[in-house]
Amino acid sequence: QARRLEGIDKNIWVEFVKLAATYSKVNLGQGFPDFPAPDFLTEAFSRALSGGNHMLHQYTRAFGHPPLVKVLAQLFEKLLGRDLDPMTNVMVTVGAYQALFCCFQALVDEGDEVIIIEPFFDCYEPMVKMAGGTPVYVPLRPNPPKDGRLMSSADWQLDPAELASKFSERTKAIVLNSPNNPLGKVFSRGELGLIAELCVKHDVLCISDEVYEWLVYDGKQNIRIASLQGMWDRTVIIGSAGKTFSATGWKVGWAVGPDRLLQHLRTVHQNSVYHCATIAQEAVAQGFQRELTLYGKPESYFVQLPKELQQKRDWLVQSLDSVGMKPIIPEGTYFLVADISQFKSDVPDVPNSDEPYDSRFAKWMVKNKGLAAIPLSAFYSEAHKNNYTNFIRFCFAKVEDRKVDWRRWKQERK
Ligand code: PMP
Ligand code: GLN
Repeated sequence: QARRLEGIDKNIWVEFVKLAATYSKVNLGQGFPDFPAPDFLTEAFSRALSGGNHMLHQYTRAFGHPPLVKVLAQLFEKLLGRDLDPMTNVMVTVGAYQALFCCFQALVDEGDEVIIIEPFFDCYEPMVKMAGGTPVYVPLRPNPPKDGRLMSSADWQLDPAELASKFSERTKAIVLNSPNNPLGKVFSRGELGLIAELCVKHDVLCISDEVYEWLVYDGKQNIRIASLQGMWDRTVIIGSAGKTFSATGWKVGWAVGPDRLLQHLRTVHQNSVYHCATIAQEAVAQGFQRELTLYGKPESYFVQLPKELQQKRDWLVQSLDSVGMKPIIPEGTYFLVADISQFKSDVPDVPNSDEPYDSRFAKWMVKNKGLAAIPLSAFYSEAHKNNYTNFIRFCFAKVEDRKVDWRRWKQERK
């Protein structure tokens, strides 16, 4: 085994997807929608598959099928207010995962430090390590509201002085994930401004994972850090058609950024994956063309999907609240974190186990209630896992959450 794989062999998704498959009746664990992708997208795929253009079954351009990079460039020109070259400012990858992997391999050297904001999407840590870098963690700290209202993801904040203290000579990059998985936090302009200022001051890159860019609620705005002063030139934006069009199995993702950075991502990509499935890229390109034409209109999927998800969010908030799990209302994403500290007496203690309570709770819940969720400690580094063991994450991009008998559960708890 290569040394760079030491300590990264466990994977929360592999573990919990298996548990959910074995025990769950209702799976609110792994983040994917259980409702169908939109018709315009699946129809585009069928057309690409059997519409007569046999070349769509062959290789396409390594760094992105031309129709897809072109439409992505058009869209991001609009979003960022700057001209983009589809051939050098956009690269298509096998899901956002591969875009992230390319970033770390291309930009992080042995000994470089990469700042990661906790809680974080778990793969950042092993990916930084595989590149030879050292992750440096800074937490979002919960500030519970004093007026008795439910907590919001906006109540989890960075301490500005603590954040500043993590930047040093050795810092190569910071990973930003807004809207954030798992909390659903959408970083405010002020918070992004602070991060941007520190990046510019210390000449640090920003890997901006924006896979949930369209999933924001209550009329909130998703602000792109690349559009702030001094940031375009040092930011790689990462996106996912899986999240954007509710088709996670297609594994189409992208990186958008300045050529000076993307050229190195291309080097990693051409020597590892080469390109992502042509047909999927063609269909996603057509999906984006539709969305560009309908941009901002009520028929747009980017308008409709968050509207539907917001209702599901509100339903889950109510349901969880009714059984005594305190939900943290997410401003974005399709995840919701809830406080399970009131359930300690329901879950049997495991003697001599150093497994955190949230993980034991999630396993108990899937086995006894048939309901799958993910322990929040999975989104923390080893050193900080034990500070956050009273929460679990639910995915609410589901039709099936209505099948949980919350009323019965509530009665049983009395
Ligand atoms: N980043 C975040 C924050 C995610 O939640 C996910 C999970 N889908 C990814 C990246 C990976 O996306 P993809 O499925 O497109 O590889
Ligand atoms: N992004 C999804 C989640 O957070 C799925 C991740 C995965 O399957 N690796 O649940």
